Amino acid sequence: MSGMPLTERTLLGPGPSNPYPEATAGLAAPPLGHLDPEFINVLEGTCARLRTVWGTSNPVTLPLSGTGSIGMETAFANTVRPGDVAVIAVNGLFGTRMCEVASRYGAEVVRVDHTWGQPVDVERVLAAHPSPAIIAAVHAETSTGVASDMAALGQAVRERLPETLLVADCVTSLAGSQMAVDDWGVDIAYAGTQKCLGVTPGLAPFTFSERAWARRVEVPPVWYLDLGLLGAYVRGGPGGRTYHHTAPVSMIASLDAALERIEHEGLQEVTERHRAAGELLQNGLQEMGLELFAAEGYRLPQLTSVRVPEGVDSAKVREQLLVEYGIEIGAGAGEYASSVWRIGLMGHNARLDRAELLLGALGRILG
Ligand code: PLP
Repeated sequence: MSGMPLTERTLLGPGPSNPYPEATAGLAAPPLGHLDPEFINVLEGTCARLRTVWGTSNPVTLPLSGTGSIGMETAFANTVRPGDVAVIAVNGLFGTRMCEVASRYGAEVVRVDHTWGQPVDVERVLAAHPSPAIIAAVHAETSTGVASDMAALGQAVRERLPETLLVADCVTSLAGSQMAVDDWGVDIAYAGTQKCLGVTPGLAPFTFSERAWARRVEVPPVWYLDLGLLGAYVRGGPGGRTYHHTAPVSMIASLDAALERIEHEGLQEVTERHRAAGELLQNGLQEMGLELFAAEGYRLPQLTSVRVPEGVDSAKVREQLLVEYGIEIGAGAGEYASSVWRIGLMGHNARLDRAELLLGALGRILG
């Protein structure tokens, strides 16, 4: 047999998560042309729904073609001029990736390292440089399960560095954590579809403020990521909507269906569902005697990092979960690859029954 095996798994790793059934149905609808007026209606609806989940009125809000990393690339490609200082908070793998990406566009990166498992320290970030062009941080560090206070960082940047643009990686937070990019003063934010949005991987929801637009790089070094050209298709222009690249129509229809489902449930209700499932899981793991990795008070409900008990073979337990129970969980990241497990309860899986399922299976394996 060729293609994806018809094996059902419960995807409780750091992503992808199991999509909402509505998202799967959206993916299977007969595709329309990317300039078909009916498809343009879908796209406009998707952009409007994305504004709601981002908490923004930014006109430049769109699903980029590609996974979360294309959001990171687009953020820096459209804002960094060679030699610009970018202060980047690093408290895990994805902060590290931001440094790598920003430097490839010519940024002079000032890296503010934190202990993994701890949140971003706003004062240390603000003290790192007197006038950076960009400050960037990860809202929800998937590599450690830590939430950082983006509202506090945004407020500090606005008050004390009004010329600086703030970039937020929200790949694991969008539609799982409370989000209000306009109120927080975030200029540029990106996400991925495969986590709390409950869609398969393939799109990067993206938003770019008017302030950022006024200062954007007119001709970014990567044609595919040029927001000016992308805008001519997504938003239209004086000559109407023009072709830039063939939009992945089925992925957009799937994202739209998931967003509609989230809208029906209610954004607050969805966030609360993530909180309740994460709390049940984290309490249950601790009751089993396991130690959580992320600092208390900063734990993401949608991504729990837990230390592998002394003497337990981390990979073997993950394999048993997969083979015997059809449950995927993740290994730790970086130096924590074999000493931490990462368990995601995201989107469609942010449910009490998924948390109980994992606790039951893990409890039986660990004895
Ligand atoms: N940023 C964060 C916080 C992530 O969790 C991920 C993926 O897990 C990415 C960026 C990169 O996204 P992708 O793997 O979809 O390209």
